[in-house]
Parts: sequence; structure tokens; C-alpha cells
Amino acid sequence: MIEARSNPAFDGHEAVVAVGDDALGFAGFIAIHNTALGPAAGGCRIWNYARTEDALTDALRLSRGMTYKNAMAELPLGGGKAVIYKMGADRNACFETFGGQVEALGGRYITAEDVGATVADMRAIARRTAYVAGIPKQTGQAGGDPSPMTALGVFVSIKALLGGSVQGRTIAVQGAGAVGYNLCKLLTEEGAKLVVADVNESNLERAKALGADTAPADRIHAVAADLFSPCALGAGLNARTIPEIAAPIICGSANNQLATEEDGARLLARGVTYAPDYVVNAGGIINVSAEYLGEPAEVVEGRVRAIAPRLLRVLETAKAENLTPHQAADRIVRERIAAAKKN
Ligand code: NAD
Repeated sequence: MIEARSNPAFDGHEAVVAVGDDALGFAGFIAIHNTALGPAAGGCRIWNYARTEDALTDALRLSRGMTYKNAMAELPLGGGKAVIYKMGADRNACFETFGGQVEALGGRYITAEDVGATVADMRAIARRTAYVAGIPKQTGQAGGDPSPMTALGVFVSIKALLGGSVQGRTIAVQGAGAVGYNLCKLLTEEGAKLVVADVNESNLERAKALGADTAPADRIHAVAADLFSPCALGAGLNARTIPEIAAPIICGSANNQLATEEDGARLLARGVTYAPDYVVNAGGIINVSAEYLGEPAEVVEGRVRAIAPRLLRVLETAKAENLTPHQAADRIVRERIAAAKKN
């Protein structure tokens, strides 16, 4: 256990382990936030940070986020995350060694892809441990690219928020990447009008090919639409953008959309309905979880569709208890974990 308690993001983590190998030249952290509901599951991020402490902070924040996402999705999994902040020249050897270090945790942590990691990396990890997901699926089994299932979860949530149909409604989509593009396809198939922004020209072009109008990336949040869907990076809902948001509803896949806790209150004060990110973007981890547990592909879609009624329950709880939707979601998760700890 490394000294992580003094980090402001520590939040009662069960364990934080330094991983890596000096000779191979790689280094990182595995953070295990909570295992009350099952082994801690969350991907491995490869990123450059200005300081090692920043890598630790990111691992802690992401790991805590996985506890909340997995618990809300009613998966038999806790929350954890790995961050590799220094990658050696022999990438395969680094991931094999990392796999051995995951194995040494005896199943308390299950890894998968996150930003910067590839399927080839997961295959290297799998040579040393079975506690890994995100490897191409076998016929009939769940697995593979999680983004179509993430998009489906966001899509069914959007439909529910718009009263059951997107026909003729205008949706502003920020980011037409893996999730955003799949979402755009589902929306156009059911007759929605799209306004899309992306800083990547080729991703924007493929959205245009679906018939989407476009908006500048720095103005998409202010487009007059029935719903705004952030599917790019986090912290897009902040003190600068919230006063300019024109849509009455926000529902998208991006992780950590609220820059600060206060931004949830800002949206509420403006009368904007915010669908908490980790409630609606759980389709990918639902897919990964089924893969890890060796379940058939058919179980996944029903679980992903269940995100929509779950979201409506969270919004009802928020309204009834005068909380922001994010606060209501957090409270539901904390109760679920406390109940699991008692049993
Ligand atoms: P991606 O990298 O494939 O797509 C992101 C897209 O956003 C890219 O096309 C990028 O060019 C664009 N973008 C970046 N900055 C932008 C800006 N300022 N304005 C407009 N567009 C911008 O990533 P993804 O897998 O589609 O994930 C999108 C979001 O959803 C991320 O926040 C991710 O953490 C979250 N998420 C993804 C999954 C999944 O299954 N892939 C699951 C849960 C959450």
C-alpha cells in the first residue's frame, strides 16, 4: 500500500498499489476503491501526467467513479482503476508484467481497456492473468467493442426523457467519436434531427453523411435543441457553459460531465434536467461485465435497455427529495453499498 491517504481524492479507498518495473521503464497505480458488491472492475488508462501525484489523483477519482457506475448498473462488481503514467519501450513486456501484478491481487481487481490502451495490450495482460476483459469476443459470447452498447444506453435514456420518441426532435450532439457516432445512427434511424460538433474533421464528416447539421465545437452547448448530448470529454458543464445552454435536457455519454458539484445545482437552478452521466453511460461496462463473467451476448441488450427506467427513477427521487439528479444517484449508490456491507 502506498501513501495515498493524504491525497484529497482518497475517499476511503480499500487499497492503492504501485505497479511497474524499473528495468522495463514503466510505472503506474492500481486503485481499488470498494469491493462490497464484487471485485473492483475498471479499465487501465495510459496517460502522461505533469506529476506522479496527478496520476495518483486520476486513478483515485476514476476508481471511485467505477464504484458508483457499477453499483448503479446493479452489476456484481466494485470499483477500481489502473493508471500507467510511464510506459516502457517494450510495451508487450510491460503489459505482461502488469498482468502478473494484477494476478498478484488475487482477483480483487479486474482490468480492461481505457484511454490509451488497446486490445493487443489486453491480450498481453491475459498471458499472465484471467482477471482481464476487453478481448475480442468468442461466437455467441458477450464482449468486443463496448461503445455500441454505451450508445444504446444513452439512446434509450434520451427516448425516455423525450416521452418515448425522438421523431422530429432536435438533438445537439457534442463529439461524434465511437459512442457519439453510434448514437447519431440510432437517433437518425428513428427520425431525430441532429446538430453535431466535433474537433476531428473526419468524425464530423461521417456525422454529416447521416444528414446531420453542424455547429462550431465551442458553441454546440448553446444550440437551440430539445436535448443536448455531451459525448466528448468531461467537465463540459461548467460555470461558463451552463448559462448558455439552450436545451432543457442534457443526456450524453461523456464521463464526469459536471466540472464541479456546484454545476449540478446551477443546472437545477436554470431548470435544465440533467441525466447523471454514470447512470446513462453504463452500457459499456455492462457489456464488459458480461464478457468477464462468460455470459452469452443476448443478456446484454436487456440490461442496457433497463438503464432508461432506472434513470427515470433517479430523476423522480431527485424531485421528491429536492436533490440534484447527481446527488440523488450518489445517495442511491451509497445506500446499496451500505446494505451490501451489512450482509
Ligand atoms: P472517442 O475518443 O471515440 O470520441 C470522442 C470524440 O469527441 C472524438 O471524435 C473527438 O474528436 C471529439 N471531441 C473532443 N473534444 C471535443 C470538443 N471540444 N468538441 C467536440 N468534439 C470533441 O471516445 P468515445 O469512446 O466515443 O467516448 C466519448 C465519451 O464517452 C468519453 O467521455 C468517454 O469517457 C465516455 N464513455 C465512453 C464509453 C465507451 O464505451 N466508449 C463508455 C462510457 C463512457
